[in-house]
Amino acid sequence: MICSLPWVHLSLQARDDAVGIRPCCWYLHSSVKKEFPNQWLTYNDVKRIGLTEASNSQVLKKTRQDMLAGKHVSGCQSCYDSEKIGNFSMRQNFNSKFKLDNLTEDFLHLKYIEISLDNICNLECKMCSSGFSTKLKKRDELVGYDVSPTLAYDLDLLDTINLDNVELVKVLGGEPFASKNHEKLLDKFQDLSKISFIYNTNCTIIPTDNIIKKMQSMKGLHFIISCDSIYKYNDYQRWGSKFKDIIANAITLKKTFSNINHFMFLNVYSLLNLNTYNISKKWFSKNGFKTSSEWERGELSAWHAPQWYEDWILEENDCDEVRNYFSYRQYNENKWKQFLKFINITDKLYNTKLKDYNPELARKLEIHESKGII
Ligand code: SF4
Repeated sequence: MICSLPWVHLSLQARDDAVGIRPCCWYLHSSVKKEFPNQWLTYNDVKRIGLTEASNSQVLKKTRQDMLAGKHVSGCQSCYDSEKIGNFSMRQNFNSKFKLDNLTEDFLHLKYIEISLDNICNLECKMCSSGFSTKLKKRDELVGYDVSPTLAYDLDLLDTINLDNVELVKVLGGEPFASKNHEKLLDKFQDLSKISFIYNTNCTIIPTDNIIKKMQSMKGLHFIISCDSIYKYNDYQRWGSKFKDIIANAITLKKTFSNINHFMFLNVYSLLNLNTYNISKKWFSKNGFKTSSEWERGELSAWHAPQWYEDWILEENDCDEVRNYFSYRQYNENKWKQFLKFINITDKLYNTKLKDYNPELARKLEIHESKGII
């Protein structure tokens, strides 16, 4: 199964416990670490050898060789899974964009970069971690998660690879508009009018005038705006954000840039807000906004929920998307207890009560969880 990305794309991040260079963000860290225990490159390895050499690492060459030979690539399991259930995969998406010939095991040239600038963010989203927001260090410590150090990508690493063919850059954080690295990244490119940029933003910060000018000169802009359901349901999960401000800022961005090609809200559904799937979809559609759903797979995933939770959600949100999410559900008592504990700890930390934000969920937990958490 050929995919164009391993020949033209690099996904880069500064975390040293993760794979430091990947052919895309769907490519599974865990599979790579398992299959190539002594060969996968950390961020520090990439810093030592530079991006040109890293793009031809043993792991990436093997990925390309296996694709050319029609072999299974374990790192690409997410694409296989997505295609199996009839969803569009990252591979299909980019094969239609980048049509390549005469491929060998070597990296071709860099057309598309995805880069995580740092883990500086102004929010403390419940399903996120200190790896992506330094503001979550205290919470992660209280909950018992690993606490990530402050990270920042060394952008001078981009000087170690030819950027002349780059036509697309995806900017991730933290929050890109809160990052000091953002402007430095833009200044790495000679001519922004040849490059389109994709921004994943929480839309709580409007960029400075100087950055706005640079963004206005780009070939195109794609905004993917994180907003997890509506009103108080969003505000509880995306802690620190206010739904009304996100929408107002989104409208400001739309008015500020005439070079927007793509503008979409990304709604992450988790145990905390899945009961609002339908009302959220309806609100965004009624207000003329496109949305895409993302399904929390970590600690707040509905995969761990008991049967009553699935039955309750489907009462008012019965559709293929939600049913597909539940098709991976396997009740895990420990993880479910962790979730209940998580609500208690975070409510105490932020001086909140779940029932003030998602009263329907709070009521159901009171009924079904004998010890009660509210
Ligand atoms: S097949 Fe999918 S996971 Fe593999 S490199 Fe392509 S897009 Fe990434």
